[in-house]
Amino acid sequence: MAETSLRDKNWRKISPRDSRSEPDLPNFKVHLAVAAVASAVGVALGGASLGWDNETSSLAFLAGLSGGLLPDLDHDDSKPLRIAGAVAGLGAAALAAGYVLSPGSFLGRPWAAGRTALLTLGVYLLFNAGLVALLKKRTRHRGLFHSLAVPFLYSGLWALLVGSMGPGASMAVWALAGLGVFSHLLLDAGKSMSMNPLKVATDDLGASTILWVVTAAVNFLAFIRLRL
Ligand SMILES: [Zn+2]
Repeated sequence: MAETSLRDKNWRKISPRDSRSEPDLPNFKVHLAVAAVASAVGVALGGASLGWDNETSSLAFLAGLSGGLLPDLDHDDSKPLRIAGAVAGLGAAALAAGYVLSPGSFLGRPWAAGRTALLTLGVYLLFNAGLVALLKKRTRHRGLFHSLAVPFLYSGLWALLVGSMGPGASMAVWALAGLGVFSHLLLDAGKSMSMNPLKVATDDLGASTILWVVTAAVNFLAFIRLRL
């Protein structure tokens, strides 16, 4: 099992302790409420000063709200982890159902309703459980998911996702996604005396480097996509 080392405000190591026993961290509702307010303010400002349309505003709000929950995906018992599992399961199931219901020679499509329902259920369970298990195994609570690269990575992913909608929408989701994640890190930083959620890296320099390289690449790709 990976050592759970805690650090004080100056990022010095203090005695190892199970981070799940920390009583004083903002919970799911606090993160959700703060991210919702910050996103609403951001959307209002964007609408008033930059003329964001409804679609852009809705996507930007979603990016901000989800950003406020994202860092706690590293917590084994967290609501965000369960939500992410369900979203991954539903997304994969919808794609699988859409594929087998479309006519085509591969796999003898289109499939009948019963067979499709069974496949959809199977894919949902597989992807839901798979993502939750992967995140539980590969992350440490308040490790790299609570670090400065994550707002930029999440912003870049959103900008890449909506790149086809043009520069205005991309900038809107980029700004709000980052704002949402920052709201989470700042709340944790304000509450926690033992760890620094605004750290640039962790002891695992390999993983930290990979995270920053991926973050830079995603943002660069999002930028390139807008230029083309
Ligand atoms: Zn957190």
